[in-house]
Amino acid sequence: MKSCMKCYAENDEHQAICRECGSKEFTTKKESLVPCPHCGEDNQSGDKECYSCHHSL
Ligand SMILES: [Zn+2]
Ligand SMILES: [Zn+2]
Repeated sequence: MKSCMKCYAENDEHQAICRECGSKEFTTKKESLVPCPHCGEDNQSGDKECYSCHHSL
């Protein structure tokens, strides 16, 4: 999966353009994100607490 830089829609790796908005720019972040169990915000893996609500991850 890769995310569109414009609309943040998730696209498959093989897609050349975003299926939502047609943009050709994608973020190809390699680090995995950990969703907070409390508020659902994405945190960097390795973080000890949620940046948004400070719930421990
Ligand atoms: Zn898009
Ligand atoms: Zn949180």
